[in-house]
Amino acid sequence: MIDPAFVADSEALGQALALLLARGQGGDKAVLPMSLPDTGIGEAATLRQLAPLVLGGAQRLDGALAMAHMDPPTPWITWATTLWNASLNQNLLHPDTAPVARDLEALVVNWLAPLFGMNGGHLVPGSTVANLTGIWAARDAAGAEEVVASRAAHLSVEKAARLLGMRYRPVETDVLGRLQANALGDLKRACLVLTAGTTSVGAVDPLDIIGQAAWTHVDAAWAGPLRLSERHAEVLAGIERADSVAISAHKWLFQPKESALILFREANRANEAISFAGAYLATPNVGLLGSHGATAVPLLATLLAFGRSGVAARIERCLTHMQEFARHITEQGGIELFSPPVTGVLAWRASRVPTERLQEALPAGSTSFTTIQGEKWLRNVAANPNADPLALAEQVRAAIQRLAS
Ligand SMILES: *Cc1c(COP(=O)(O)O)cnc(C)c1O
Repeated sequence: MIDPAFVADSEALGQALALLLARGQGGDKAVLPMSLPDTGIGEAATLRQLAPLVLGGAQRLDGALAMAHMDPPTPWITWATTLWNASLNQNLLHPDTAPVARDLEALVVNWLAPLFGMNGGHLVPGSTVANLTGIWAARDAAGAEEVVASRAAHLSVEKAARLLGMRYRPVETDVLGRLQANALGDLKRACLVLTAGTTSVGAVDPLDIIGQAAWTHVDAAWAGPLRLSERHAEVLAGIERADSVAISAHKWLFQPKESALILFREANRANEAISFAGAYLATPNVGLLGSHGATAVPLLATLLAFGRSGVAARIERCLTHMQEFARHITEQGGIELFSPPVTGVLAWRASRVPTERLQEALPAGSTSFTTIQGEKWLRNVAANPNADPLALAEQVRAAIQRLAS
């Protein structure tokens, strides 16, 4: 007997797609049972019950005012290929269950790695794991004993040091939020982590100091994809000399979560340090993950559909949005920028209105908060190619006028 729950029902799937496109209004969590239901309501009723909640209740990342976080909207080619992935459920741990998907992951890594001067690597669920993997390789391939990073480095860097039992040594930043290169001290036994696009202000650490430490890992979670743009690749000049690079594809490569890359300049050397062979494994298990899916497929599909230049054009549009937004809010007067936006992230505040009150007054999902050296700033991120920066600047102007009067 075939269980129909495991067989494609194109009418029901068509219904799911129709609900997705309709989006609907925010639903009520109260309709869901508070404890595990004993009897199922069936697929059709489940879709009807969940659609208003899951689809209607979600923040729209493609909305005109969505400029709060590093989470982009995703192109529809990734929706289609993610559905394929869910249906096939390949496991890249086992070549026999994922004969094509493994090759596609290797191919997409080969497409992207050269832009960063790297020669291999693999996909991971986020740059938290990419940073951990890079620092792990630094410890076990290069004998690094401590992790050195700026105070503006992402918390995943200190987390990795803690997990790996390595000393963590934070160093100061300059006025633009970049690591202060003159304060580094001895790096002979260090994994130096440089950030390309800090979370709060999008600063890029000085990449020209790569080569001084036992191992240099560049956390390019956010700004890495600038390497695809001929116009902006120079912002990350020098990255090609790093030993490892982390990039979150679910940020500026417009991928659904969880999608990121850890790349190595000498992949054989790094892989040897982070590989395990096991009784039931046909090939060694490289890196942190056991079972993992074919997140390479939507990434490859996006790169195939858009090409390098198509992805670059969308990133460039985001950067232009941020320049326009910064220009329009400063033209109003009474606005202080932490620094001019370099990688599409802007921290700013208004002199006449308290930062918390201004954030509350702005549309939900438009603007986030960040704390820099104990001070609160508002923060916008250009991850949404469909944003309307002038409309958001107008909202800022109106909110300040309301609150200051
Ligand atoms: C987002 C981010 C991370 C963490 O990446 P995830 O993909 O969220 O795990 C690390 N470093 C920087 C600079 C980031 O912006």
